[in-house]
Amino acid sequence: MLAKNGGKYILFALAALLLCLFALHAAQRREEAAKPHVLESFRLGTVTRVALYGENAAAEKALAEADKFLREFERIFSVNIASSDISRLNAKAGEWVAVSGECFRLVERARELAELTEGAFNPAIGGVVRLWRTGTPDQRIPERGEIEKALQSCDYRKIESRASEDGRYLRIPRGMELDLGAIAKGRAADMLKEKLREAGVKSAIIDLGGNLDVIGLSPEGRGWRLGLQRPWSPRGEYFGIVEAEDISVVTSGPYERCFEKDGKIYHHIIDPASGFPAESGLSSVTVIDGDSALADALCTALFVMGRDRAAKFLEKNGGVAAVLLSASGKTAFVTPAARKIFRLTDENIALEEIGGGSR
Ligand code: FAD
Ligand code: MG
Repeated sequence: MLAKNGGKYILFALAALLLCLFALHAAQRREEAAKPHVLESFRLGTVTRVALYGENAAAEKALAEADKFLREFERIFSVNIASSDISRLNAKAGEWVAVSGECFRLVERARELAELTEGAFNPAIGGVVRLWRTGTPDQRIPERGEIEKALQSCDYRKIESRASEDGRYLRIPRGMELDLGAIAKGRAADMLKEKLREAGVKSAIIDLGGNLDVIGLSPEGRGWRLGLQRPWSPRGEYFGIVEAEDISVVTSGPYERCFEKDGKIYHHIIDPASGFPAESGLSSVTVIDGDSALADALCTALFVMGRDRAAKFLEKNGGVAAVLLSASGKTAFVTPAARKIFRLTDENIALEEIGGGSR
């Protein structure tokens, strides 16, 4: 009888032990999942940060893949790498150049978005950007004549593409220089998100300097809260918050790359109509969309357009979620789509709706 009961007790103790081990393991997994696995590096000319939430082994593997991906992306798109597709295209302007599928598709997309924005976003602006060298130690104000000459080679409609069984080719006219700086980080974020999702990542935040992207829900199980940077203020000081899941929040602003000369600020977002930094009465534009390349190109374009032209564009292309901040920083122009996910946190800023089609 005693022996029989003893056996029962042992079985009971074993079951309890198993339960404890199971609970411990589950708690450990929960703890692992709540701690981010972070990759921080200097890529795409900026500090990039990828933070994944998930189990240790899988997350570390996904981060290693993310690192490899960003390196490869640079090898295709960086104008600072002589062998990149973009550098070869620029160096061989006037000739057909064989390029990777990634480059072919991004240049085609850039040309389409240039059409859509009537050239406010212009991937063929490289010749003008290079004259200014904004953000480099040689930044300068070019002569008007130099700018006028460079502007003659910025017609994006002259970018040609040809795809056949033997490969993909692009040709730009002699004198033209491509610059995908206003769209490539967005495309990088889109491709990276896809890779991470394929690797099983369910929750992540990717920051590619101005391009914020999130996968799934935050570790707290709700939408991610992403702050919009207050222009000309210390990093991390926000004027509003976007709360959403699986989204890309892209911001363009003059304060990111600029220099001052004789009391005037010259920045890196060029108005293709003048060849000078866009003076459009805005201090920042944010576009929120699932498609980061689209958001990237559009926020540069809307910045160039300024409030009135941007309002007309947004009315015509309804559904774009955008937040534009006036140069004075006193008014935020917000589209109806953005109002659903954006909250102004600075009570000194007035909110005005634009692009709703009511005008
Ligand atoms: P956005 O507003 O998105 O774009 C502005 C940039 O696009 C300008 O800097 C200019 O290059 C171009 N531009 C200006 N006006 C227009 C216009 N009207 N239409 C279209 N384009 C316009 N920077 C470095 O300093 N060193 C590097 O080594 C370096 N490597 C890079 C590698 C890659 C693959 C990429 C994509 C970028 C790299 N950059 C580098 C550039 C940099 O990190 C940013 O991409 C760039 O400064 C613009 O990003 P943004 O989000 O600040 O501005
Ligand atoms: Mg952009």
